Amino acid sequence: MKLDLSELLGGKRPAISFDYAFDPTQVDDECAALPPDVSVPANGIRVRGEALDSFGCLMFRARVDVTYDTRCARCLDPVRKTVSFDMERTVLTDRDLDRDLSHLTEDGEWDGVTDDILWINEGSVNPDADIMEEVSLSIPTFDLCEPDCPGLCPKCGKKRKDGGCECREEKKINPDFAILQKLLDKKED
Ligand SMILES: [Zn+2]
Ligand SMILES: [Zn+2]
Repeated sequence: MKLDLSELLGGKRPAISFDYAFDPTQVDDECAALPPDVSVPANGIRVRGEALDSFGCLMFRARVDVTYDTRCARCLDPVRKTVSFDMERTVLTDRDLDRDLSHLTEDGEWDGVTDDILWINEGSVNPDADIMEEVSLSIPTFDLCEPDCPGLCPKCGKKRKDGGCECREEKKINPDFAILQKLLDKKED
């Protein structure tokens, strides 16, 4: 979302807070690709925070809460998960660049004081592409429906949980005890 920082830039306000949600389809950025099998529902990314003047330096700080849909890595059931992270960016204008060239290398690249820069364009910043990059990094490549999901049965391919699989584990019996097992089976009958 485009955040209008003109009042912050003009010194009218010390901080501008925001709270909004978006979905990744609104962001056109290759780096923001989500892992395969992962999708984010409409407005699944919530961004809360503020842009503020911190000792003459403009900062963007936000808490990002992500809701996403994926599949259990063991039983392939659909699962909805959440992940949250904090992010911080330095906010710069082209004017800052002209004024303070000491931060630039000979090639004109930022010298690594921070890689994390949001550039102001006509008084606004749009952090969504940056947020999406962080989202794609923060979503685990491996999720489970429950920590001890028993997965699929290798024999029938059905889910082992919820009684989906009716295969009985074949017991491997030492021949010496086979006669004993037979007696036990008889008793059970
Ligand atoms: Zn599972
Ligand atoms: Zn089975």
